[in-house]
Amino acid sequence: MSIEDDYKLCSKCLSRISRKFSKTLEDERCSICDNLLLHEDKIYQVIYNKIRKFNIEFDTFHISCQVNYDELNRAEKTIHKSVNYKGNNGLKKQLRKDLSAMIVKKMGKRLDYKNPEVIINIKIRKKPYPHTPYPEISNLTVFIDSNPLFIEGRYRKLERGIPQTKWPCTECKGKGCEVCNGTGQQYPVTVEGLIGKHLLPMARGKSIKFHGSGREDIDVLMLGEGRPFVIEVKHPFVRKIDLKLLRRVVNSHSDGKIEINDLKFVDNNRRASIKQSSVESYKIYSAIADFERGVTSEDVKRIEKIKTIEQRTPIRVSHRRADLIRTREVYDLEVERINSKQLRLIIKCQGGLYIKELISGDEGRTQPSVSSITGNNAVCSQLDVLEVHIPE
Ligand SMILES: [Zn+2]
Ligand SMILES: [Zn+2]
Repeated sequence: MSIEDDYKLCSKCLSRISRKFSKTLEDERCSICDNLLLHEDKIYQVIYNKIRKFNIEFDTFHISCQVNYDELNRAEKTIHKSVNYKGNNGLKKQLRKDLSAMIVKKMGKRLDYKNPEVIINIKIRKKPYPHTPYPEISNLTVFIDSNPLFIEGRYRKLERGIPQTKWPCTECKGKGCEVCNGTGQQYPVTVEGLIGKHLLPMARGKSIKFHGSGREDIDVLMLGEGRPFVIEVKHPFVRKIDLKLLRRVVNSHSDGKIEINDLKFVDNNRRASIKQSSVESYKIYSAIADFERGVTSEDVKRIEKIKTIEQRTPIRVSHRRADLIRTREVYDLEVERINSKQLRLIIKCQGGLYIKELISGDEGRTQPSVSSITGNNAVCSQLDVLEVHIPE
């Protein structure tokens, strides 16, 4: 018995691989492709129907193909070897090539290997899948996935008490309980939520992820031009969102709590650089410092000379941040007197400096501090961010 007797190929595989084998009869299956290559029009129809059913909007795509069918994989290898096949068209590649061409031609979409908006996954196995429309390709199924969508912008936070992102309820850890009214959230309103609740249905996505260029505390306002952020929509079915409309809807439905501006589409690289930019950038804060005793004009001069800060991770964030000593620069510090025991400090500094601790000293963990250089205990009673600058 020769190998040619063990295997039979369909007309398509005969012409693309080798004519040494005999042709499958009407009711036989091709040893390489299981007759799938004879029914590519039906595979295309399955893909087309899925895209229509979920109404997925996209311009660029890429097809991936998985064959979890050992006999098929093994036969293909053996046949290729036996005829010394040097080509590069395995079953997976042939399917991808043919179906990509059909999608380009019939649907007018563009193939993009590097950064496709949509990935069409073709899966093949031995056992038929339930509920398949065509018996000839019942062991093939199609999943459609879409890559995330990224939108950059700047937000202003005009009301205190709003965190940037969602926090799971500390009582139930997000499951939903009486304390959180079953929401699973510690805070009912977040910057992320105020944007996401409009963006998510517009993009018809599964979920939202918010990436800020740093974050201010819950009780801190974000003023000026706002803080840069990238908001990510996972598995969006719509990508061409009207950003002007999104901005208008968010700003008019947030009860003056937040405002977003300068929206634009960006890619994943921009998301990463926005997140990493906090150290390279500078920030400007307006802080009110309340002192235990009256402040002299000598004290004010000393405060204005503050430059390099050695800051150990503050006590209040030490449960979630590594315990390190960071060196941060204050580039400029202006003092305005409010009354004998209260000053307003306008601080321009390197990103990553904790301002509340710069004022209080954090029990000696921040050196120097407004408290330490004046010998007068001070606390920050109000803080606003006036500017967050990041490299373009
Ligand atoms: Zn075949
Ligand atoms: Zn809860």
